[in-house]
Amino acid sequence: MFSLRKKILIIIAGLLVLLAVSLFLIFRPVSTNKQLAINFFDVGQGDSELVQAPNGQTLLIDGGPDNTVLRRLGEVLPWGQAKIDYVLLTHPHADHVTGLVAVLQKYKVGRVIMTGVSDTSPNYIQFLKILKQTQLPVALAVANQEFDLDDVKFNILSPDHNLFDQAVNDLNDSSIVVKLTYGQVKVLFTGDAGAAVEKELLKNKIDLSADVLKVGHHGSDTASGQVFLQAVNPKWAIVSVAKVNQYGLPSQRIINRLARAGATVLQTADQGTIRFLANQNNIWRQQ
Ligand SMILES: [Zn+2]
Repeated sequence: MFSLRKKILIIIAGLLVLLAVSLFLIFRPVSTNKQLAINFFDVGQGDSELVQAPNGQTLLIDGGPDNTVLRRLGEVLPWGQAKIDYVLLTHPHADHVTGLVAVLQKYKVGRVIMTGVSDTSPNYIQFLKILKQTQLPVALAVANQEFDLDDVKFNILSPDHNLFDQAVNDLNDSSIVVKLTYGQVKVLFTGDAGAAVEKELLKNKIDLSADVLKVGHHGSDTASGQVFLQAVNPKWAIVSVAKVNQYGLPSQRIINRLARAGATVLQTADQGTIRFLANQNNIWRQQ
């Protein structure tokens, strides 16, 4: 038999354990498995970004200039995942559309979002042909539309009118500009949209503020105007570009301007794929 003193000690120890367990349950960190991931793929000279919602649903924005995107998808998607919920084509240039042809052939795609702008470049024609053959649902993007993946919201900011079957002077400026919002976290994807689009967005007093900016047109000086950058005020600016390219991209002037605007500038040419994780309050780079 325990002495009375021992019994009291055992009871006190038991109460302390109970207290510790209760405190842990009350103050434990919020579960971190419900995270959003955003990948800025290294696809050489082109653009490709994959958004992975906390529930695993996916949005692929552009596919880069060749089939590299398939390898990049394989690196981040859970093993065996054969579905991509949304594929968004910002505009029909080869450095954005070509990889998507391979994606449509390999993955089960839920829906395609694009402008449907008119263009006769071979890769785009092939992309449209596959869409027709597979009868995939297609949504034509116009400003003010909104769609969701899980708790992640996407707002189309540009183009401001329906471009379906329209010929345009500058395909870059036909780019879909889309803003992601997840709680407090915001990311702006600009495709190759240039200064004219930036001015239009500023004129329309659109809320452009974002933690991360996918820098317009691979860091070319056709995009990333001073006033636009002030409005976005990004913590990170991601330039999707190849080390060696025939266009002299990115423009050193733009890199300097991004840095002056207070952004940490990251280039896929230097970093490879750049991946961010986010909960509803914070976004951080996964090294
Ligand atoms: Zn481009």
